[in-house]
Amino acid sequence: MTRLPDELVGYSRGMFSNWCWHRPLQLMIDAGEGVQLALGTHVFAVSVLAITHGHSDHVLGLPGLIAARRFSKGATDKPLTVVYPEGSRGVLAVRQWLDTAFAGVTFPVLWQPMQSGDRVALGGGRTLEATTAVHTPGEPALAYRVTEERRQLRPEFRDWTRDAIEAAARAGDRERMTEMVTHVRFAHSGDAMPLDPVWVAGADVLVHDATFLVEADRRERIHATTDEALQVAATAGVAQIVLQHLSVRYSRPSSLDALRTQVSAHPIAHAWLLDDHRLVPLTDAAAATLG
Ligand SMILES: [Zn+2]
Repeated sequence: MTRLPDELVGYSRGMFSNWCWHRPLQLMIDAGEGVQLALGTHVFAVSVLAITHGHSDHVLGLPGLIAARRFSKGATDKPLTVVYPEGSRGVLAVRQWLDTAFAGVTFPVLWQPMQSGDRVALGGGRTLEATTAVHTPGEPALAYRVTEERRQLRPEFRDWTRDAIEAAARAGDRERMTEMVTHVRFAHSGDAMPLDPVWVAGADVLVHDATFLVEADRRERIHATTDEALQVAATAGVAQIVLQHLSVRYSRPSSLDALRTQVSAHPIAHAWLLDDHRLVPLTDAAAATLG
């Protein structure tokens, strides 16, 4: 399994700043404040930025990121596609600010409004898909997943020996023995109530809102609890779950002990908490990948 901190970099502090960069996919989710400082020259590595919703802690880093790509040394004409929920006031306000503050400057940015079910092609034959996320009333919010088509052995051949499979494949039965399946490479809830596990089934990595350690602390149903996020991961059979957006009301590290106890109640091998810039392992298997 890939060492998660090698492919995922992010920052998560609810109400302050939230962003997540998946390096191999060149995909960024959200752009909270400070993102361009954290990425440095890697600001140019991002190809697609997907905004989950327009709240300030998810979009206020957008002007800095776009300006850093335009005015610092690097691939200043590399296009950046910014997908965002259609009608998002926060995103539109950032666009207006860029237009006003940098009147006359053209940025190589493609702004693409999205609705639930919309798709965008990524490199490597992958697809970015959006679905409605339940967050604040009146604020359009989307969750995203990246899918790829994979050829795999049909179920009826899975208990064949390797030799038998290879012999059949050599005899020209490869097409008949395999099928194309849609694999979820990565998924991100944004700020949201629990996602539908079916939508993220079998994901390599799921990043999920986990604001509240206990249901009693939740006043409005706009963020998931840690246990709800873990339940989604367990039901969906994701390989790795990254909890994020844990409320600042909980002291660290004592809340980590409570969280590890919750995780141990689920059949989840690889669980992490993205807390500020740290990826904190919540299971022994996750810790072991750090070596
Ligand atoms: Zn929000």
